Amino acid sequence: MIKFFENKLFRYLSVFLFLNSSILPIKSSSALAAWALKTNGVLELRTQSNTKLKAYFQKGDQISGDRFWVDFPGELKNPRIIKGNGPIKEIRLGKPNKGKTRLVIEFKEETDLKPLTWRMVGLDQNRWRIKLFNPKYPFKKIGEGLVDKRIGNIKENQNSIRKKKSDYHFFKLPDVKQNKFLVVIDPGHGGPDPGAVGIRGIRETDVVLEVSKIVKNLLSEKGVKVKLTRKNEIDLNLPRRVSFANNADADIFVSVHANASRGKRRDINGLETFYYRGWRGRLLAKKIQKEIIRVSPGSPDRGVKQGRFYVIKNTRMPAVLVEIGFLTGRLDARRLEKTKHRKRLAYAIAKGILEYLYKIG
Ligand SMILES: [Zn+2]
Repeated sequence: MIKFFENKLFRYLSVFLFLNSSILPIKSSSALAAWALKTNGVLELRTQSNTKLKAYFQKGDQISGDRFWVDFPGELKNPRIIKGNGPIKEIRLGKPNKGKTRLVIEFKEETDLKPLTWRMVGLDQNRWRIKLFNPKYPFKKIGEGLVDKRIGNIKENQNSIRKKKSDYHFFKLPDVKQNKFLVVIDPGHGGPDPGAVGIRGIRETDVVLEVSKIVKNLLSEKGVKVKLTRKNEIDLNLPRRVSFANNADADIFVSVHANASRGKRRDINGLETFYYRGWRGRLLAKKIQKEIIRVSPGSPDRGVKQGRFYVIKNTRMPAVLVEIGFLTGRLDARRLEKTKHRKRLAYAIAKGILEYLYKIG
């Protein structure tokens, strides 16, 4: 069984904010002078004048909640953790590396955040503010030092959050109606049946189980109910997978597989999605195929095809079987070994599913 919980699931949005370009000498003390997180959800910062800041947001995973952090030049003397309240789990002040200060705000799991709307505003040369959460959350102010002490001339600056395109793409999953849909995800094979075994012994069962679990988490976050036909290495025959989906009365069924080529040819790579019948199945296949191809540059698009696989033929709802790459292919196998790529594929599958659900309403 794979160690799923060790693999951090994250989507992140890199946020870069540049005000003035003067950088403090690396050995100077922290440019962060004071900070306060107020009851209205606004974080205020006071820094040395003309400090260059960088701000980041990272989506939570099974280990940590969503995090927002700001990096400041200058090294912090005493790293510390301050307990939060309300939507805030904790605030950490640390030195991620020599000559730096990092202020991390970690949110509790259930907090509803809208990082895409966040803007860090420079009020003057040494003060900043950013609204992080809705005042509907009861919260008692936390802070250190005086944020209002003014130095220098007032100069208005506004910097919007600039998103790294690739990360933004993953970050933005479509919204669908909450609790309306039930999706059954079927990680292929399992237990005594490892499925395809590829280069360096990479096994289909491990790859597809991890990808499927991430898909489940992503969809659950979006208010979609998800059931996995298997959650670990068990032997599960095809009729049981089908009856599981049919009995659950799922809206859609997605079986996740990885390929192997005959003769284990290393030059054969690519992704494909099968459906058996109906425009809905075809639409779902198209949406998923489009997204998985986007995250697999250089790997051939083998397209959407009709296939007579047992699980998509006998399930009663729109059903697809996704082949996320060739474990025997040089390019695909190297990628599929990596959790990072598995996460990308999971995002892509989740995105395709959500787009389909959005479309059919
Ligand atoms: Zn398979």
